[in-house]
Amino acid sequence: MKRTYREFQKIASELKPEGRAFIDGQFCDAADGTTFITENPATGETLTKVAHCKNTDVDRAVAAARRVFNAGTWSRAEPEERKEVLLKIAQLVREHTDELAVLESLDTGKTINDCLDEIGGEVPNFFQWYAELADKTFGKIAPTGPGAMALITREPAGIAGAVLPWNFPLVMAAWKIAPSLAVGCSAVIKPAEQTPLSTIRLAELMHQAGVPAGVINIVPGYGETAGKSIGLHNDIDTVSFTGSTEVGRMFMRYSGDSNLKGVGLEMGGKSPFIVLDDALINDDLIEHAAMSAFWNGGQNCSANMRQLIAKPLVEEFTGKILDRVKAFKLGDPLDPETDIGSMITKDHKEVVMSYIQSGINEGAQMVTGGDSDLPGFFIQPTVFENVAPNMKIAKEEIFGPVLGIMPMDTGEQAISIASDTDYGLHASVFTQDIDRALHIARSLPCGTVSVNGFSEGDIKTPFGGYKQSGSMARDNGTEALEQYLQTKTIWIHTSEKT
Ligand code: NAD
Repeated sequence: MKRTYREFQKIASELKPEGRAFIDGQFCDAADGTTFITENPATGETLTKVAHCKNTDVDRAVAAARRVFNAGTWSRAEPEERKEVLLKIAQLVREHTDELAVLESLDTGKTINDCLDEIGGEVPNFFQWYAELADKTFGKIAPTGPGAMALITREPAGIAGAVLPWNFPLVMAAWKIAPSLAVGCSAVIKPAEQTPLSTIRLAELMHQAGVPAGVINIVPGYGETAGKSIGLHNDIDTVSFTGSTEVGRMFMRYSGDSNLKGVGLEMGGKSPFIVLDDALINDDLIEHAAMSAFWNGGQNCSANMRQLIAKPLVEEFTGKILDRVKAFKLGDPLDPETDIGSMITKDHKEVVMSYIQSGINEGAQMVTGGDSDLPGFFIQPTVFENVAPNMKIAKEEIFGPVLGIMPMDTGEQAISIASDTDYGLHASVFTQDIDRALHIARSLPCGTVSVNGFSEGDIKTPFGGYKQSGSMARDNGTEALEQYLQTKTIWIHTSEKT
C-alpha cells in the first residue's frame, strides 16, 4: 500500500545517508580525506558530506576490481552463481524500495511517485532480467570442414567503468551494473556529483546480496577528477557513459589518449513529437504529449520538446495541452500529490531560465509557465507557441520543462524539421494510418520511434542514439551485453581419427 506524505517525511527524517566511497567491499573515505556536499535541491538543505574521490581512489578501486577479476571469483564463477546473486540484489532493492525512493527523491528533487516507480519497478527488474541472461548467453560454432572446429566464445571484457548522470541516478546505475556483472565483469562506477547517495546505498545492498569484494566499487566525485581518471585509466577495459554530448566526446578522447578502451556513449537529445493531420486529439494523445515533455521536470534525454503539430490541429492541441499542463502540481517532491519536483541545481535552473528568456527574445509566445516562487529550484511547466525551427529553443537541448509547439504542413516537412538536428535519440509520431507511421519511423534518424505514444521501450529493447546522441553502443536488451563482452575465436585443427 502506498504511503502518505507524513510517512515519507518520517522515513526522510530517520535516514542517515552514507556518503563514503565503496571500494573493495568496504566503505572508505577519499585517500586525501576531502569531501563535498550533496544537497536537497527542493530545499537547499545539506544532506551529507560525500567522499571526494580522485586519481588515487580510482586507482585503488581499479586495483581491487582487477585483483578479483583475475582471481576468477566472479568472472569465472558458474553463471548460475552470478544469476542467484543478481536475483538477490533485485529482491533486496524491492525490500528497500521506500527507503531508496525517499533517498533518491531527497538527493534529486524528483517526485516520490517517480522514485517509487523507478526503484520499485525498473531497477529490480533490471537486475532480474540480466540475472536470467547470465546463464543464457551462448557463444557460437562456425561452419567448417572436417579439418577444424571453430568456437566463437564470449568472455567478459574485464574492468567496466561507468560514469553516470543525475537525472535517473539509480536507474542509470542499474542499466550499467546489471549487464556488466551478469557477464562477469568487475565494475568501477562514478555517480553524478549531484546525486551519489542511492548508488552508494545500492553498493551496500549488492555486498549484502553476495557480490564479492572488489567486483563493485563506487567512487563518488567530480567529472574533471574521478570521471576523467576513469576515462584515462589504462587498466579499465571498457567504459559506459551517460550524460551530455560535450562530455561524451571527451570519453572518446580519453580512450585515444590511454589504452583504447571500449567506449559506450548515451547522450543528449532534442526529440520531436509529430502529430499528423489525421491524428485524434484525444485525452490519450494529450497525456502522452504532456508527459513526454514534463516527466521528471523535462530533465530527460528523450523528452519530446519539439512538438510538431499539423496546422489544422494546432488550435485544438494547444487548448487541450494548456489545460493539462496547468493541472500539474509543483511542490515538495516527497508529497505524493506533487507532479513536478525541483530542477537539480540553482545553476541548472538558471540555464533553463535563460532558454525561456531566449524563446521570448526570439519571438515565440510563452502561453504558460516561467519562474516559480517556491523555495528551491523550481520552474513551472512552460509552453511556447509559434516556435520556428531556427530558434534556439527549437535547436538546443534545454533539459528542463520547456515545450515548444511548432506548426507544420505535411509529413515530409515534419521529417525534414525533425531530422535537422545533431541529435537522434527518440521521436514520437501520432497518426491513424499505419503506412504513414511506418514511413516516418523508417525515415527518422534516431534510435527509438514510438508510434501513438511516448515510450523509450523497456528492458527488452535496446536504447541509444543515432548521430551525436550516442555511439554505436546500446543500453538495455541483449544488445547491452555487447558493451561488456569480447569475442574470442578458438580454432581447433582436427583430423578424422576413430
Ligand atoms: P554531464 O555530461 O555533465 O555529466 C555526466 C557525468 O559525466 C557526471 O558523472 C559528471 O561528473 C561526468 N563528467 C563531467 N565532466 C567530465 C569530464 N570532464 N570528464 C569525465 N567525466 C565528466 O551530464 P549531466 O548534466 O549529468 O546529465 C545530463 C545529460 O545527460 C543530458 O545531456 C542528457 O540528455 C544526458 N542523458 C542521456 C541519457 C541517454 O540514455 N541517452 C540518459 C540520461 C541523461
